[in-house]
Amino acid sequence: MLQIHNLHAEIDGKPILKGLTLTVNAGEVHAIMGPNGAGKSTLGYVLGGRPGYEVTEGEVTFDGIDLLTLAPHERAAAGLFLGFQYPVEIPGVSNVQFLREALNAQRKGRGEAPLSGGDFLKVARAQAAAIGMDAEMLKRPVNVGFSGGEKKRNEMVQMGILSPKFAILDETDSGLDIDALRAVGDGINRIMRASDKGVLLITHYQRLLDYVKPDVVHVLAGGRIVKTGGPELALELEAAGYAEVVA
Ligand code: ADP
Ligand code: MG
Ligand code: MG
Repeated sequence: MLQIHNLHAEIDGKPILKGLTLTVNAGEVHAIMGPNGAGKSTLGYVLGGRPGYEVTEGEVTFDGIDLLTLAPHERAAAGLFLGFQYPVEIPGVSNVQFLREALNAQRKGRGEAPLSGGDFLKVARAQAAAIGMDAEMLKRPVNVGFSGGEKKRNEMVQMGILSPKFAILDETDSGLDIDALRAVGDGINRIMRASDKGVLLITHYQRLLDYVKPDVVHVLAGGRIVKTGGPELALELEAAGYAEVVA
C-alpha cells in the first residue's frame, strides 16, 4: 500500500533522511520508534508534502501512484491522513467548518455530493461521542485553547470523519493521561484497523502499543531504518534503550 524506497530528504540543505526503505501492506499497522532527532517527524512531513522538506533521492508510491508528485491536498484526497505531534490551532475557524470543508473536499474528489450542514453534524457528533469528546467542542475554533489530550481526541474525530486509507500518526500519545491514551488507542483501532487500510504509528514509547498492537516495529536512527521486528522489538527497546539495540 505504501512503498518507500531509498528515500533521501533534506531541510535547508541538511540531509535528514538518508536512504529510508519501508513497505506497509494493506491491513498492517507499523510502529516507528527511535531516538530524538532520528528523522521520525521529518518522515511524516515528507510523506505529507510539507514545504521546505526536499526529497533528493528515492521513491514513494501510495496505492500504486507516485506520492511525491502530488500536492499536499492531493495526497489528502488520495486518502492519506497526517496526525501531528503538535496539532495546529486555527483561530477564527470552527471545528465544524474545518471538518466539513475537509470532508466535502474529499467527497468532491470522489465525485460525491457535499454533505449538508445537518447531515454533517450527525456524522461529527457520532465521531465525537465515539471518542468521548464533548460535542460542544465541535463549535470551538480548531484546537484553540484545547488541552493536549483534547487536541489528540479532536484529531481522532478528524480521522473518524475522513476515514482515510492510510494514517501517519506522529507521537499521537505524547502528553496523554491514561484515559486519553486508551481513548486514542481505541480510536485508532476502530477507525484504521481494516483489511484495506494502513497505519504508520510514530512513537517514543511502548505504552501506546499496548492498545494498538503493531504488526511490524521499525527502529529509525540517523535517517534510516536500522532494525525491523515484531511487537517484541518494542518491548526490547523499552527494556534496553535505543543505544543498545541500535548498536
Ligand atoms: P524526530 O522526530 O525523530 O525526533 P525530527 O525529524 O524532528 O526528529 O528531526 C530530525 C533532525 O532534523 C534533527 O536533527 C532536527 O534538528 C533536524 N531538523 C528538523 N527540522 C528542522 C528544520 N526546520 N531546520 C533544520 N533542521 C531541522
Ligand atoms: Mg522528537
Ligand atoms: Mg518528532
